[in-house]
Amino acid sequence: MFRLKIAAIALLLSASSLFAVETPIATILSYHEVVPGGVPPFKTHPPPGFPDVPTEADRYTLDTKDFTAQLDFLDQNGYHVVPLADLVDYLKGSRADLPPRPVVITVDDGYLSTYKEIFPRMRERKLPFTFFIYPQIVNVGKNYVTWAQVIEMADAGVDIESHTFTHALLTLQMHKDFTAEDYAQFLRHELLDSKTLIEAKTGKPVRFIAYPYSNVDFAVQRAARQYGYEGALYDQMTKAFIKPSTSPMSLVRFPILHDTSLDQFKAALP
Ligand SMILES: [Zn+2]
Repeated sequence: MFRLKIAAIALLLSASSLFAVETPIATILSYHEVVPGGVPPFKTHPPPGFPDVPTEADRYTLDTKDFTAQLDFLDQNGYHVVPLADLVDYLKGSRADLPPRPVVITVDDGYLSTYKEIFPRMRERKLPFTFFIYPQIVNVGKNYVTWAQVIEMADAGVDIESHTFTHALLTLQMHKDFTAEDYAQFLRHELLDSKTLIEAKTGKPVRFIAYPYSNVDFAVQRAARQYGYEGALYDQMTKAFIKPSTSPMSLVRFPILHDTSLDQFKAALP
């Protein structure tokens, strides 16, 4: 009898955790470059801080018409594009509810196409989005945004957040030559100096971080918390859903790639 009870409780527990796994409440999408034709406009890739893998740029560059088709799909199928802050506040319990089928749109790095292609389309549709930039990419070349453009977007309501200072791999495992002190200073620069500089430029608080290459461990998470971040994001190709139990410091995103089909896009939505 006792054993049966245990089994029943175990079954109930696994059923409830299964239920939680299968109840996505939102999806966070991540974009990089969006350009007409879907081909990176300059052969200057990789940008500062990226490894020298030319195919990476192609992989992360989406055709503008695919981007607008995705926005149309969201609009025509009852999805609501919400600010990242609303989702984080909801998960933290400081916001009572979200509209049905919430989707968050984020854009990484600092490509000029964010200003030229994404920003006008989002503004026209009155949709919020978060732009994760790293200061080292700003003002350094014709394929990247300038601080003036970043400030213009921030003033127009675009949420500007941190993607570290130099687009570095953050875990200690990737910096085995660092002393403990080197590593602490490195994390402080990547996490805190980027936050402070972006806040000084935009005049708005930086609350969130997207980890470059999704490279994160417990020590990086702890440092991000220590330096005041309230939300942290990484990418995952499958099951990238936000659930009621998701921690704001461990937010999974679905990356939109050059060849992401509309079917794959639909499957990633809540
Ligand atoms: Zn990046």
